[in-house]
Amino acid sequence: MIIAIDGPAASGKGTLAKRLAAHYALSYLDSGALYRAVARDMLSIGVALTDRPGAEQAAHDLDPSSLDDPALRTFDVGKAASVIAQYPEVRAVLLDRQRAIAKTEPGAVLDGRDIGTVVCPNADVKLFVVASPKERARRRHQELQAAGNTASFDDVLEEIERRDARDRDRATAPLQQASDAHLLDTTILDIEAAFKVAVDLIDAAMGPTGRET
Ligand code: C5P
Repeated sequence: MIIAIDGPAASGKGTLAKRLAAHYALSYLDSGALYRAVARDMLSIGVALTDRPGAEQAAHDLDPSSLDDPALRTFDVGKAASVIAQYPEVRAVLLDRQRAIAKTEPGAVLDGRDIGTVVCPNADVKLFVVASPKERARRRHQELQAAGNTASFDDVLEEIERRDARDRDRATAPLQQASDAHLLDTTILDIEAAFKVAVDLIDAAMGPTGRET
């Protein structure tokens, strides 16, 4: 079973995807971590974000065991990730890695921006998770503060809006709802409520044991 979860930054898709993977005993891939890791590696060795061959090389050289690195979660790395994520050559390299995870038995939950549209267009269930920009900025601001980052709420909101525009307007694999994805708006839902809605949708599509009904 493959569950594809897409949505903009801080929509709650990552937390939801992790919970769903545990609930259905599936593998989990945070595809954003791949883009963040490429950006982190470029920043750490001083490759300019505008250096497209350098970005492609960093994607080839990516160490998959480095995806839990807390440095991936910083404001600057998130911003840099959305810049290099515009390059089709970087996306092509990371596509193979994502599809390999999607093939693991008995299945996987993948979250990102183009899982339902490009990476796994035949996913069994697709969710498109959204929340208002202000609510997403509030969540991201809280996370950053907890991690000791001093960015202001207004800066975080501005960056979220800029990142949304870059992810939505890029030519290759833009952020968009797949035509067969269920829309899940988490603006006024906490994680428990969002999880319950998602499980109900998935069970209705697949049956509670993960078999298609
Ligand atoms: O989801 P997260 O905020 O960690 O993703 C960081 C950036 O990576 C996104 O803003 C987006 O530009 C890029 N990304 C992408 N496609 C994905 C996952 C992430 O372009 N499937």
